[in-house]
Amino acid sequence: MKRNADRHPLTNSRAFRNALSKWFDTEGKTYPWRVTEDPWAILVSEIMLQQTTIASVIANQRFERFMEEFPDVDTIAEAPESKILRAWEGLGYYNRVRNLQKAARVIVSENEGRFPRSASLLEKLPGIGRYTAGAVSSFAFNEPAPIVDGNIARVLARLFDFDTQIDSNAGQKEIWKWASELLDKESPRRFNSALMELGQTYCGAREVHCVDCPVGGFCQTQSPMSLPVKKPRKKFITVAEHAFLILEDDKILLSKGSGSRRKGFWHLPLRSEDEAARFEEESQHRYTITRYRVTVHLYRGNSITRTEGEEFHHLDSLEELPIASPIRKIIKASL
Ligand code: SF4
Repeated sequence: MKRNADRHPLTNSRAFRNALSKWFDTEGKTYPWRVTEDPWAILVSEIMLQQTTIASVIANQRFERFMEEFPDVDTIAEAPESKILRAWEGLGYYNRVRNLQKAARVIVSENEGRFPRSASLLEKLPGIGRYTAGAVSSFAFNEPAPIVDGNIARVLARLFDFDTQIDSNAGQKEIWKWASELLDKESPRRFNSALMELGQTYCGAREVHCVDCPVGGFCQTQSPMSLPVKKPRKKFITVAEHAFLILEDDKILLSKGSGSRRKGFWHLPLRSEDEAARFEEESQHRYTITRYRVTVHLYRGNSITRTEGEEFHHLDSLEELPIASPIRKIIKASL
């Protein structure tokens, strides 16, 4: 049940900030990226969490492992692409780590390894959008930069009973304006973390706990689960791949990937459906990547014609090669 709000968050902004901070100081979670003020560590965590859940990053110690391998901008700036792709394996959306490296290289070459403090300068770095720039600026430097991620957008849409599509230009403009107006400029780090965490706890996408909500007395909506309003989702694209497992002695034939989904990765050799039709299908494997639902039809057949970019690799060297994790799983299951 939604409780009635007796105060508006903007006209009572000080009381709103106090209520939010009081709750966060007692109930706020501690994550590895919250106990540091290192802008590189914070940037890595923000990029990692863009399309990967906190639970998955924590459970697999992805953040700690990545930071161990690339503790600073200098280390990643000098690393070969194959090494950064290997370190990002399993997280998907590999352009994220490519952009991390590009940003690190700019910081090293143009700013002697020092991060800019302001969100407007951070936003000029490759792959860093408005949210990430604000997150690094406020979390690392405690600068008064507002942030809006999915959690904050949901909380604000409900707090202000906002029924415009939040992913439209008009919706984004309004939400960012509120994030800026509400921001506690004396403690932006804590305020931004708290608002985000409210969206991960009390004000969730699938359930809300309005009766116990620390800022329930300021919340204008009476129907939280109908908000936020978003544009209809894009449909999934179904893809069928015909892949070959070709082994010779202790070696496996792999193909160097190209195109946006596979660039820089080794893949099983692929052939057209017509070419694959003369072989017997051994198994089928399914995985989803970004907007693609992929079915891999797997065959064995040493007589396929080799094409450019295909090479045999020793099975012992597979761990060193960047291979997208669904493909690695298929190989492991089929050897
Ligand atoms: S949980 Fe969300 S919808 Fe419910 S009172 Fe709190 S801010 Fe409003």
